Amino acid sequence: MFYAQILTLFPEFFTSPLSCSIPKRAIDGGMVSVDCIQIRDFALDKHHKVDDSPYGGGPGMVMKPEPVVAAIREARQRHPDTHVVMLTPSGTHFTQDRALEYVDRGHLTLLCGRYEGFDERICDYVDEQLSLGDYVLSGGEPAAMCVLDAVVRLLPGVLGSPESAVLDSFSEEGILDWPHYTRPEVFEGKRVPGILLSGDHAAIDAWRRVQSGERSMERSGKK
Ligand code: SAM
Repeated sequence: MFYAQILTLFPEFFTSPLSCSIPKRAIDGGMVSVDCIQIRDFALDKHHKVDDSPYGGGPGMVMKPEPVVAAIREARQRHPDTHVVMLTPSGTHFTQDRALEYVDRGHLTLLCGRYEGFDERICDYVDEQLSLGDYVLSGGEPAAMCVLDAVVRLLPGVLGSPESAVLDSFSEEGILDWPHYTRPEVFEGKRVPGILLSGDHAAIDAWRRVQSGERSMERSGKK
């Protein structure tokens, strides 16, 4: 069983993505457990304030350290071995290798920011800062969901065909998946490559390897 905790101001964000397709199957099958911890529950004042204006001036609001750090402590208390990941555009980039590493850990806590982001001192209480890429999302929730989804599909028994994850893009460093085709054989004048209809599995494997290689070179800018 893989355990995930999500520290968030919007637990309802996760209801729909976790209730369909592969994540739902993994949860229903007892392969994954996901708990949301509401950061606002750890606010100290009667208005449950979780953000405040930035020292030094400037636009937007900053997430306050007290409730966020209290929520992290709660997550660590529930699961002392958990690995706490702060979602932030300033973090190291998320990759397939990182997803595999998280699978091996067996437990993950994903900390989602909002507004202008976190008070910088919160960084001292997390194990890692992770970015989904060089763009800015409105909140850490979509980033956390992407990380969780990438991890869940790698867990043993989650995918219908265990081969799928092994053959996916990035399973080998920098190598992309080959092109896939299904019926009809001709769509708007575009034919499925003849080799895939040949029944010659050795030739099909060789063609796919070439396609993967060419596509990987092309998209990495080396071709
Ligand atoms: N002011 C921040 C900056 O420019 O780096 C952006 C804050 S963003 C509007 C609010 C929250 O969304 C962040 O605290 C973070 O949790 C999340 N977020 C936004 N972009 C992200 C990305 N590329 N990767 C991971 N998390 C991201």
